[in-house]
Amino acid sequence: MSAEIIDGFAVAAELREKIAADAAALKASHGVVPGLAVVLVGEDPASAVYVRNKLKATAECGLKSLEFKLPASTGEEEVLALVRRLNADPAVHGILVQLPLPKQIDADKVLGLIDPDKDVDGFHPVNAGRLSVGLPGFVPCTPRGSQILIDKILPDLSGKTAVVIGRSNIVGKPMAQLLLSRNATVTIAHSRTKDLPAVCRTADVLVAAVGRPKMVKGDWIKPGAIVIDVGINRIEVDGKGKIVGDVDFDEAVEVAGAITPVPRGVGPMTIACLMLNTLDSARRSVGG
Ligand code: NAD
Repeated sequence: MSAEIIDGFAVAAELREKIAADAAALKASHGVVPGLAVVLVGEDPASAVYVRNKLKATAECGLKSLEFKLPASTGEEEVLALVRRLNADPAVHGILVQLPLPKQIDADKVLGLIDPDKDVDGFHPVNAGRLSVGLPGFVPCTPRGSQILIDKILPDLSGKTAVVIGRSNIVGKPMAQLLLSRNATVTIAHSRTKDLPAVCRTADVLVAAVGRPKMVKGDWIKPGAIVIDVGINRIEVDGKGKIVGDVDFDEAVEVAGAITPVPRGVGPMTIACLMLNTLDSARRSVGG
């Protein structure tokens, strides 16, 4: 039997519509338009595409964006000064510094300077701490989007087992915290995990956030499991570039109960959740 395909593209489009309506209501009630500042340093082509997509989504949702493009040679102090300025600007509700930064700039220093209450990427240690202890804050966009997809299928994970492959601060760890908050029994697997296939086979919810094309095979998956494929990997097939996930989709779709495709799965949810975090920030700024 073939799994249900979780249409992240459609869920994200619905979410963006709701954000646009809520942003319009906020403007009408308080005269506030959620503002997102996007800082791009250098000419990394992938980063430029990500930033373009984020700015497009901002406009579609009726949010305001401010773009700061700086040359690759920009010094650390200049970027820190910009962050300080954006922290102090009441029209800016979200600050996003696109990674990676050029090597002369200490990314931890820059991200650590962003006001945690404008940290819509959710990368600041204060927001990681808030998530960990269950306080309101910003949750990183990719896990937040993945959890929305899981919630649509199974909102209460009491008695269920979840396995997250990957322990990055951006995806794996916050994903595990969210699953825990839904009462799942959570395992975080990673590059040093012994017998990864056996660990994965225990999962009612399996989230792959590794960065290895098609690593998770069909026989790693518990029949009927929800499979969330976060991976974005560029591979060559017949001389042409193709994007695949961390899960071998063709095999997994025969075993899983529900699965996200790549593309049109988690990716669109990530951008929609950036908009959602920016809207949340603007609402909080007026006491909402
Ligand atoms: P990362 O490189 O920071 O972390 C990868 C994790 O995978 C590490 O914790 C590592 O321990 C683990 N790992 C590596 N090899 C492994 C192995 N053989 N077995 C088990 N675990 C292994 O990556 P990240 O930033 O967390 O991103 C993971 C993937 O998700 C990448 O493909 C990235 O492109 C993708 N991603 C997608 C989105 C999206 O919007 N869909 C957003 C962020 C990241």
